[in-house]
Amino acid sequence: MKPIGEKREEERRSAKWALLIFLALLPVGLLGVIAFQIASDAMSELVEANNLAAARGAADIVNESLQRRLNLELSLAESPPFIEAVAARDKNRIQRYLRQAIRINQPIFRASVYDPDGRLLSDFPSVSESKDRDFAEADWYRGVSEAWEPNVTGVHRFNGKPEVLVIAIAVPVFQDAAVVGILLHQYHLASIGENLRYFKLGERGSSFLLDPNGNIAAHSELDLENMVHREYASLPVVQRALLGEPFTGRYKDPRSDEWNIATFWPFEISGRNWVVVAEQPLIDAHSPIRRIALHIGAAGVILAIVAVAVVVVLWRISERNRYLNAVLETRNRSLQKLTSELERSNKELEEFAYVASHDLQEPLRMVASYTQLLGSRYRGQLDETADKFIHYAVDGAKRMQQLIEDLLKYSRVGTQGKPFESVSFSKILNQVISNLKLAISESDAEITSDELPVLMADPTQMIQLFQNLIGNALKFRSEEPPRIRISANQEDEEWVFSVRDNGIGIDREDHERIFLISQRLSSGRAVSGSGLGLPLCKKIVERHGGKIWLDSEKGCGSTFYFTIPSEEARVA
Ligand code: ADP
Repeated sequence: MKPIGEKREEERRSAKWALLIFLALLPVGLLGVIAFQIASDAMSELVEANNLAAARGAADIVNESLQRRLNLELSLAESPPFIEAVAARDKNRIQRYLRQAIRINQPIFRASVYDPDGRLLSDFPSVSESKDRDFAEADWYRGVSEAWEPNVTGVHRFNGKPEVLVIAIAVPVFQDAAVVGILLHQYHLASIGENLRYFKLGERGSSFLLDPNGNIAAHSELDLENMVHREYASLPVVQRALLGEPFTGRYKDPRSDEWNIATFWPFEISGRNWVVVAEQPLIDAHSPIRRIALHIGAAGVILAIVAVAVVVVLWRISERNRYLNAVLETRNRSLQKLTSELERSNKELEEFAYVASHDLQEPLRMVASYTQLLGSRYRGQLDETADKFIHYAVDGAKRMQQLIEDLLKYSRVGTQGKPFESVSFSKILNQVISNLKLAISESDAEITSDELPVLMADPTQMIQLFQNLIGNALKFRSEEPPRIRISANQEDEEWVFSVRDNGIGIDREDHERIFLISQRLSSGRAVSGSGLGLPLCKKIVERHGGKIWLDSEKGCGSTFYFTIPSEEARVA
């Protein structure tokens, strides 16, 4: 079980990541919606513009075709010989004109002429049912006679055989401003809408013509045969278009019962409005939008997956980092604990060594002085063996004194070291040479030196360091008189000092060992020194942040190197 605090922290983090995922997805979603909206608006506008263009184009063509037919008819109705024939009620002559008109203008299904009261005078081709009939009730008659203006009728059934659907154009024939007759041209519906198919929109779209009553007068898809289609007549949008108000938008087609996007475009012929409709099922018109939506959706899903993946990866990295940080912190803590423990025990050890050697000094001095006293007072009075024993005791006490003194120096490096100050190494060297004056002159040694730098250091310890190294060079001399060279070179951020001699040299296998205090104390050697000189040098150099090593071979002299960081490095 996790502690409650940790659980809360975990919940808080999960909430944070959930929020991040949400924030990563939000722009993707918004972008998708906006892109879809823009695309779908643009698409709708495009579809509507297309519809409008198709409807207007179709209306222009149909209008022009009807106008052309009207003008043709007018030109006959206004031709004087024809007017004369009509005024004279000359049926044969009229029929000749009619036959000629049909020959010239093929789409005319039937041409006929009536007297101003609507009675047939002549027709071609001749329809027996119409003979001597009174057409005063016919639509075309009512239309033309209303103000004696040309009239284009709506769709109606042909009054004879075959019973096809036709539209008629009736124009009055005037002679001296008086109506002498009516010329009527009837047209098959098929001939009216032959061009509509060119204005079809899409696979399932259609365009059609509504007459002034709202009945279909021509259709790009539909074979009208002889059935009058009145389905559109009552639609409000059609009613409005018939009053001259165009419309583009959605409407439900009463024939297919399907939502369409359509344009209803009215145009006027002989004072009445006709309407051309161009339509396309909404589903078809919007299929590109659906495709766009699909693509945007797919892109959105991919983006969302990428966004989630990125967030999840980030989350895992962050969790991993958190875990590693926690581990590191624990390790750091235990390391810190270990270090401070080590520091404490080192300090204790140093203090112990210091106190022990300090306290040993006094009794040792007594042993040494009394054995010396013994030696000087009783030399020659006892036997030879006793003299030898006394000599050993005096020598042992002296060596122990030296050892204790060196141990004291060693332990003081850490505990009694002075703060660093600016130290001239040339002065240090001079001091050391003066300290070793006797040994130098005795051994006939020659000491030379480069110019030495001024660095931050503990001057007393620097004297100890140089004195030990130069002292050793004098002590471990060869047959030759000692030649000792002290050099200093700046390398990067430290100074490298060297003390070179022409003494007996040191075996390679001893290079490491001679710096170790444990090795010195346990080696049980019988040489003049305490064996603590080089460990002391090492400790001093390390306290100054440097290192010490040597280059030497047996019989070839030795060079001891050590480094002291330059001032800038220490400040940094
Ligand atoms: P000590 O001089 O008291 O013996 P050090 O620690 O100063 O102790 O030296 C350790 C040993 O290293 C010496 O006993 C000696 O054998 C060797 N040594 C030190 N310096 C030199 C040197 N300049 N030439 C040859 N041997 C050396």
